[in-house]
Amino acid sequence: MTPRSFEYFSPSSVRQCTSLLKRYGSRAKILAGGMSLIPVMKLRLASPAYLIDINGISGLDSLRQSGGSLRIGAMTRHHELETSRLVRRSAPLLAETASWIGDPQVRNRGTIGGSLAHSDPSGDLGAALLALRGEVRTKSASKERVISADDLFLDTFTSALGGNELLVEVRVPVLKPKSGWSYQKLERKSGDFATVGVATQISLDDGGNCVYAGIGLTAVGPTNVRARKAESALVGRPLDERTIVEAAEAASGDASPTMDPLRGSIEYKREMTKVFCRRGLTLALERAKRR
Ligand SMILES: Cc1cc2nc3c(=O)[nH]c(=O)nc-3n(C[C@H](O)[C@H](O)[C@H](O)COP(=O)(O)OP(=O)(O)OC[C@H]3O[C@@H](n4cnc5c(N)ncnc54)[C@H](O)[C@@H]3O)c2cc1C
Repeated sequence: MTPRSFEYFSPSSVRQCTSLLKRYGSRAKILAGGMSLIPVMKLRLASPAYLIDINGISGLDSLRQSGGSLRIGAMTRHHELETSRLVRRSAPLLAETASWIGDPQVRNRGTIGGSLAHSDPSGDLGAALLALRGEVRTKSASKERVISADDLFLDTFTSALGGNELLVEVRVPVLKPKSGWSYQKLERKSGDFATVGVATQISLDDGGNCVYAGIGLTAVGPTNVRARKAESALVGRPLDERTIVEAAEAASGDASPTMDPLRGSIEYKREMTKVFCRRGLTLALERAKRR
């Protein structure tokens, strides 16, 4: 199918973009990588009257470390996240997660801002953002605001972004010493969306106790889910196999999957959440011990 007709804009600055958003509001859509928007327009599940292409705005794909944060421009492509030396050093969980997204074509076009704004519960990067306690910065014609990962995902395909807001930047804390990470993804075949995904990041003190635990889940709820019970089972305790098994068990309780005729039953997804959380925490612990 072909999309319904629309008027196309290609602003060259954030200010031009936000004034277009102010003028057209919810009748307009931002076009970033187009990997999710174009298919839904072709299927006519979305038919915006105005398309605002942000590929011509310079600076929206910048990557820089500032203080204790890594700042990632919204137009940073998944391939750049996966391969950038800065991201691999400062936020390796994001790099590892990006490497699991779709196929090379999707990773060459898709952007972190588009992925988070799209709020697909099967999106991999949302789980990593939750595990890292990251945040996004948005701009509208009249104000700028910061939304924490915990407040970003409201419902399936519904984020906290207003219709007049542009997501401009993603911020995550830089990896601390004695920290480990992992993104584990179960997929039916290479390049598929997740059946289950588990993003983990942990930090240890000198005695091997867990002082930070972040766990985000993919494809087991109406949004990406933060596994709070599993995190609580880890923090303040020695991080060993027994603690990991208990946390993985708790993670399956954090998950709230629904029956998915393509990718598995509720019971299967809960069980796989447990298995993949256990694998993820085991690898994260190994990595933390080496750093
Ligand atoms: C074949 C295929 C396989 C895929 N597999 C995976 C996978 O395994 N894992 C995964 O996580 N994803 C997967 N994706 C989705 C992919 O990651 C997309 O890149 C992502 O969901 C959307 O990013 P985009 O830049 O293409 O956004 P677009 O498609 O351009 O936009 C998506 C939505 O976000 C809005 N938007 C975009 N940018 C902004 C912004 N800066 N501010 C405000 N709103 C904005 C748009 O208006 C639109 O509503 C797949 C896609 C395809 C086509």
